[in-house]
Amino acid sequence: MLPESEIDRVLVVSAHPDDADFGSAGTVALFGERGVKVTYLMVTDGDAGGNERTLDNSGMAELRRAEQIAAAKCVGVTDLRFLAYPDGAVVASLELRKAITRVIRQVRPDLVITHHPDRNYQFIAPSHPDHRAVGGCTLDAVYPDARNPYAFPELLLEEGLEAWTAREVWLVGGSTPNHYVDITDVIDRRLAALQSHVSQVAHVEGFADFIKGRSAAWAERAGFAEGRYAEGFQVVATA
Ligand SMILES: [Zn+2]
Repeated sequence: MLPESEIDRVLVVSAHPDDADFGSAGTVALFGERGVKVTYLMVTDGDAGGNERTLDNSGMAELRRAEQIAAAKCVGVTDLRFLAYPDGAVVASLELRKAITRVIRQVRPDLVITHHPDRNYQFIAPSHPDHRAVGGCTLDAVYPDARNPYAFPELLLEEGLEAWTAREVWLVGGSTPNHYVDITDVIDRRLAALQSHVSQVAHVEGFADFIKGRSAAWAERAGFAEGRYAEGFQVVATA
């Protein structure tokens, strides 16, 4: 694994607003406290989400962007990028790989956090098709696209974006996590970030207890002491 001292920049690539917060808000808050620069890339605006939806869902994309900006602020992230793909219709494509490659070359992250691209048969919730498509395209963008100057050559020729190698990827939502981050000290910030997604969670009864319970279960899985909270990842070396 990359030593902490070699992680200066992190890029989190998510399918929808709120995914980054469910997956890694606590970990991101801890990165921020260490002075790590974190950037969020949201592939969709989450315009097919929400509780009180109307069929046209007008205004939902704007609302969810605003909620994501507020959530990011709770964990110290102010650099957010939105690709505005249609929610619920993301498929793995060269176009999406190029869009993610562009941001990797702009941000030059040491570490990328994204969705696990495989379906989780133990727990289906993280395996939304948009998540799997974004996770797969992000891994493809990390290896080989972003590091290969001949991949999407127009990024270099027209935009001056040099090849870049992100050395590690942490995947969320998979069935085989192998790295756990103790987020006990920032559990309130994780919760605040998640509760910023008002359109998604305000109607959920007992939401705070649900999140704390999930975070405690991760800590138990990690073998941390009782009363601790954690987030879990599958680490993939990509150097
Ligand atoms: Zn999602």
